[in-house]
Amino acid sequence: MHNVVLIPGDGIGKEITKSVTTILETAGAEMNWVRCSAGESANKELGNPLPQETLDAIEKHRIVLKGPLTTPVGAGFRSINVALRQKFNLYSNIRPARSLPNIESPFRGVDLVLFRENTQGLYIGKEHWIDDEEKHAESIAVVTREASEKIITAAFEYAKKFGRKKITLVHKANILKLTTGLFLTIGKEISAKYPEIEFEDLIVDNMAMQMVMRPQRFDVIVTTNLFGDILSDLASGLVGGLGVTGAANIGDDAAMFEAVHGSAPDIAGKGLANPTALLFSSLMMLEYLNEGRVAEKIRSAVYTVLQEHKSSCTRDVGGEGTTATYTEAICRLLRD
Ligand code: NAD
Repeated sequence: MHNVVLIPGDGIGKEITKSVTTILETAGAEMNWVRCSAGESANKELGNPLPQETLDAIEKHRIVLKGPLTTPVGAGFRSINVALRQKFNLYSNIRPARSLPNIESPFRGVDLVLFRENTQGLYIGKEHWIDDEEKHAESIAVVTREASEKIITAAFEYAKKFGRKKITLVHKANILKLTTGLFLTIGKEISAKYPEIEFEDLIVDNMAMQMVMRPQRFDVIVTTNLFGDILSDLASGLVGGLGVTGAANIGDDAAMFEAVHGSAPDIAGKGLANPTALLFSSLMMLEYLNEGRVAEKIRSAVYTVLQEHKSSCTRDVGGEGTTATYTEAICRLLRD
């Protein structure tokens, strides 16, 4: 039995987590869900968007499956997603992008996995004004040897474990010579320890072009936080968008699996939410828990439903169904 902290989250969170827990249980995964709250709903009910009980449960069980959380724009509390990544040092953000059957996209045959450093770089928002009139702002990017070694090693170890052939390291070391230059130097050092895996590096602007011209040539990609933020959404766009891509945040001794889309307030409560992104994240969680066989069974059922029972799927992917009809179509195959 696996103890997993389940945070349904806001908006469509409840609907998609219900679908995912039903599918995992139908497939025979032995899960003990430890239900906790966070985000806007927790803030309204408990006066805290990240309650202490939730932190205590994560501290204890070290694995989280999380629905989307609403983050107020401008004022209000800071992103809980970012806070959780920082607090539990979940330094690897892993985003697979794989072409799916019967999902509209100009690209076929894409099968890549992007590793994004999750705790440093420009993205963490170390910013300040340097004058009282607020006419001059600065932002600081921090890159350390230790954190770079961890994420790059994680990418190589993943490639080794799953039989991947090539790592592409993405940087801007021609201009940001110290920060992303350090990242590149470390990538070259680490690649020498994995002679069986091909290694290349590309400058981020060239990478963006290559990814839309010939995405099939990429296998495992590793990059710094802000470049990874942008390129991982680009990668999702190659295979059908954020509604159908999973994500994991993994550290040395804790992991959080989450949907990459937001809380979709426009469709919340209407039964229209597509649970596929969170479902694919939960399959990454099953692999992390060494339940790869159950994960494969579910993935195969999803592919069959997309291919042969499209009308049961939700409207965002061209179906005519609801969260419930899609969930039931997958469960029916799992029960057969
Ligand atoms: P969003 O992803 O919630 O919605 C964008 C569009 O995609 C909407 O039309 C929505 O209906 C649709 N959509 C999203 N997920 C869907 C799904 N599973 N099935 C069907 N359609 C889906 O983005 P937004 O509107 O910019 O953000 C809403 C809130 O979510 C904001 O508060 C934002 O901060 C938060 N957010 C959270 C996360 C997270 O928790 N990881 C990520 C992004 C945004």
